[in-house]
Amino acid sequence: MRVAVIGGGVAGMTTSYRLMQQGHDVALFEASPYLGGLVRTFDVGGSRLEAFYHHLFSTDTTVLALIEELGFGDRMRWIDSKVGWFTDGTIYPFVTPLDLARFSPLPLIDRVKLGLMGLNLRKRDDWEEFEHVTAKDWIEKNVSKKVFEQVWGPLLHGKYGDAYDKVAMAWLWSKIHLRFASRKGGPLQKEQLGYLMGSFAVYVDELERRLRDGGVDVHTGTPVRQIVAEDGRAAGVVLPDGTRHAADAVVAAVPSSIFKQMAPPLTPDYDRRLDAVGWQFALCMVLTMQHSLSPIYWMNIPDQSMPFLALVEHTNFVGPENYGGNHILYISNYLEPDHRYFGMSEDELWALFEPALRTINPQFSSEWVNQRWLFKGPYAQPIITTEYRDKKPDHRTPVPGLYLENMTQIYPEDRGQNYSIRMGEEVAQMVVEDHARRPAADAAPGAVV
Ligand SMILES: Cc1cc2nc3c(=O)[nH]c(=O)nc-3n(C[C@H](O)[C@H](O)[C@H](O)COP(=O)(O)OP(=O)(O)OC[C@H]3O[C@@H](n4cnc5c(N)ncnc54)[C@H](O)[C@@H]3O)c2cc1C
Repeated sequence: MRVAVIGGGVAGMTTSYRLMQQGHDVALFEASPYLGGLVRTFDVGGSRLEAFYHHLFSTDTTVLALIEELGFGDRMRWIDSKVGWFTDGTIYPFVTPLDLARFSPLPLIDRVKLGLMGLNLRKRDDWEEFEHVTAKDWIEKNVSKKVFEQVWGPLLHGKYGDAYDKVAMAWLWSKIHLRFASRKGGPLQKEQLGYLMGSFAVYVDELERRLRDGGVDVHTGTPVRQIVAEDGRAAGVVLPDGTRHAADAVVAAVPSSIFKQMAPPLTPDYDRRLDAVGWQFALCMVLTMQHSLSPIYWMNIPDQSMPFLALVEHTNFVGPENYGGNHILYISNYLEPDHRYFGMSEDELWALFEPALRTINPQFSSEWVNQRWLFKGPYAQPIITTEYRDKKPDHRTPVPGLYLENMTQIYPEDRGQNYSIRMGEEVAQMVVEDHARRPAADAAPGAVV
């Protein structure tokens, strides 16, 4: 079977790899000059580093199995997470129950309620009721208004902007549930996060090498313009220069709105689903510095007057000795696609960020900064709202032989490498099973193009 895969993020790469392993003839088309999508990396002090901070949880079993299969299991490191909260000019560590007990910005009674909320959600497997209620309404009713106002509300606002009060409780349930489940020794155990030494590019690059060596026709810098259907079936793709690449099945591993522009006519219900889910885009400035900003790895900044939502000091996770002695800081924002920051230059953004960094650490000075980079990540986080099952498009589209896989189809888990890889494997299997079910004459080479 000839399969065209559109999109060389980890989902499209995994689908291509699994199909290749089963002997199919695969062509992979990626718009940008490199594979890996949002797991892209760049060079810092002679080492690779993610453009967008990445770590794994112990529950991310599919990506961990792939890393093992590719021969890099011994490079995984599990490191105590150092999460903090910056509020009212103070950095509060926020990892253990003791940290929560000491979190004085929240009244004592609400600290207890917040702790009980975590324990309760961790135990609950029946999450269906959370599909029908927003996180805001559920927390205000079942925990407390203060807990929403001071903890979850600012976090949701940081990640989802104006849509903060529309996010389904199902999304938050899954995030908390999995996060607790990843504490191997139980909820009181310290959390550990996983990192692949050398960066996640180690497995992405190996996947690319195996695709190329295994005969997959990899085209980078090649945005697909159109998906062709003939006799009601997917029949191939049209490339930027107008040439056609014929295929028996097409897998689009791209965001829904991009898919909709290139797809043949679908059904009104499928079109509605493609339009139903909004996205936040990511904006990350990365600094290499001579000194450390704080002892925290992941610092939430739940203050709307600050120009960023989180600071991720990567070298408080994986030491500066791995990056030529540089301390590495990600200044992170998730924003609406039309947010003014996307129209600003790196220097204009720096003029906003620099004084705000000094409120975190008054010693900070721009002279600490060796180098800075700005990365924009479109389609970074789908917005998971209530009644989501009625919004989620199926992987099998209404056009036989045409499949869609993107992060809007990951539910109820939060998106992440693990789930894109799992989805990539599931869709590969679907393509093979559907092909096997086709009548022989219909599936004969040449019949579709
Ligand atoms: C700031 C940030 C932090 C993150 N942190 C973590 C983390 O800590 N841990 C974790 O596991 N995950 C994390 N993630 C999520 C993780 O990066 C994603 O879940 C995963 O990379 C998504 O892979 P994907 O293949 O589904 O999509 P994408 O990576 O978005 O891939 C889609 C690909 O399609 C290509 N494309 C688009 N249009 C076309 C076209 N017309 N023709 C051909 N190709 C096209 C794009 O260029 C892109 O390469 C983070 C993401 C962000 C943005």
